[in-house]
Amino acid sequence: MSQKDFLKTYREKRHFDLSSEPFGNESDKKDGNKQVFVIQKHAASTLHYDFRLLIDGVLKSWAIPKGPSTDPKIKRLAIRTEDHPIKYVDFEGVIPQDQYGGGTVMVWDVGSYTTDKTNDNGKAISMQKQLENGHCTFQLKGKKLQGGYVLLRTDRGENEKWLLKKIKDEQADARRKPTHTENKSVLTGRTMKQITKEET
Ligand code: MN
Repeated sequence: MSQKDFLKTYREKRHFDLSSEPFGNESDKKDGNKQVFVIQKHAASTLHYDFRLLIDGVLKSWAIPKGPSTDPKIKRLAIRTEDHPIKYVDFEGVIPQDQYGGGTVMVWDVGSYTTDKTNDNGKAISMQKQLENGHCTFQLKGKKLQGGYVLLRTDRGENEKWLLKKIKDEQADARRKPTHTENKSVLTGRTMKQITKEET
């Protein structure tokens, strides 16, 4: 993708005079080498969780209708969505109902990630390359989610379909169900209801 197209789709979908979402600047890309992730709980027309990984200066994004699981036996559908600017990592608030993605957004989890995936010769495979290959393996260090996860592309096309799955490791836990029991913002400690009330 050329520099000129940076965040083109993201910006075309939004009216920044009406929504408080960040516009995103080219200069923000200097922080692009940090490996951060965010999961935003988003009560749009359908409730979902937006999973975003900072890769190559932008937040590569997936919408996960059921949210992430800590159970390695469960695969969660993740639909690829448009790249978001780095600044979106701490966006929490209410998008006006008549705007794209209208509804309440909570920073459900945030943190850093690492990847140690290597090819047959033991050489590290970049996240950019893993994304192109449709098979990303990474370890999350979030406040709610930790340990290994894998994202696997199952369907190309306009909205690529991927699956998110927990890797069997020490942080795997079939009973935890964090999307049901851990319902507060890691940024502000607020519930969806409180965010909606305070940001509208
Ligand atoms: Mn969303």
